[in-house]
Amino acid sequence: MKDYKIPFNKPFTIGNELEYIKQAVESGKISGDGTFTKKCHDFFATDFGLKRSLLTTSCTDALEMSAILLNIEPGDEVILPAYTFVSTANAFALRGAKLVFVDSYPHSPNIDASLIEDSITSKTKAIVIVHYAGIACDMDLIMSISKKYNISVVEDAAQAIDSYHKGRLLGTFGVFGTYSFHETKNLGCGEGGLLIVNDEAYFQRAEIIREKGTNRSSFFRGETDKYGWVDIGSSFLPSDINAAYLFAQLEKMEEIQSQRIEIFNTYYRFFESRMDLAPYDIPHIPAYSNSNGHMFYLVLSSEGERDRLISEMKKLGIFLAFHYQSLNKSVYFKDQSKGNLRNCDKFSDCLVRLPLYFDLSISEVNMICESIIKILCDGEE
Ligand SMILES: *Cc1c(COP(=O)(O)O)cnc(C)c1O
Repeated sequence: MKDYKIPFNKPFTIGNELEYIKQAVESGKISGDGTFTKKCHDFFATDFGLKRSLLTTSCTDALEMSAILLNIEPGDEVILPAYTFVSTANAFALRGAKLVFVDSYPHSPNIDASLIEDSITSKTKAIVIVHYAGIACDMDLIMSISKKYNISVVEDAAQAIDSYHKGRLLGTFGVFGTYSFHETKNLGCGEGGLLIVNDEAYFQRAEIIREKGTNRSSFFRGETDKYGWVDIGSSFLPSDINAAYLFAQLEKMEEIQSQRIEIFNTYYRFFESRMDLAPYDIPHIPAYSNSNGHMFYLVLSSEGERDRLISEMKKLGIFLAFHYQSLNKSVYFKDQSKGNLRNCDKFSDCLVRLPLYFDLSISEVNMICESIIKILCDGEE
């Protein structure tokens, strides 16, 4: 990555990250659930309107907690998009669930909600959705299916912090929602995540699972006089050093988001107005959604064209990245009988992500845009 003039992603500091880490160290407690973890929890409750949430070591861990909380076990089926990061699937595979992959829309990598109902059987235990690029899935349809069949929805909102469906925050529709604070996401602390617990009935057990299956959290609140092993669990709580870094970024969320959205809009306007020059597609944002500036991508006409663009841009010192291979075609996945999921395959082959990080300047974005359109048009001759 160091060789690129413009990398794909760049971690950044914007406020008190280093000062808060110093404060955490000087406070004498850097393990989990310290002062800064509490500040993050208060931020999400007060400033962000999430009634119940728990900081975790990653979004992957928040997804694993969701699978444990739903008592997923061998024989259960879980419906999910094939075009997603491995963690969406792994969390449920770890509990022995059978994964039932569903295709994307033709014009959006999000799960095609109109195909979900056909995949439901008497064994379906959960529907896991991913708001790809921070753009909302069709929550009206998904929640109506959830209600009709009484099947829980988990939202992998790793990319979707501060994004909405008809004005309602993503991550608050399902029984659980999960955010990621990995350095490649909008706000981060290197590695980190959040489990949003939208059904109060699960909260107590969530705290226990996060603390190695002990009731330590309630012990520290003085609710029990001793603590011990009361359930299965693992170590899902982050160090307060990570929370300190994260809290500094949460304080600057508005500034971070407005910069990212400006970059997204600059890309969007440029490529939207030149679609007659070369065959490519841009993100489709349904009327019920918005963009949180997480990611800007193009969908090119073929894998060859995508790879050509990446390698030509590399010569200019600009790193473009492709994204997921469909999980139904992965080396690990054992039941590949379902064959092709046509739209997932297209996004696997043809989608390319453009650099988008807080420190990227608008003049750099303009330069990237001009370079890309030139390369795409050269290919048209
Ligand atoms: C980044 C990401 C994850 C994993 O997040 P971590 O915090 O790195 O564990 C899961 N799902 C999706 C869709 C992601 O983009």
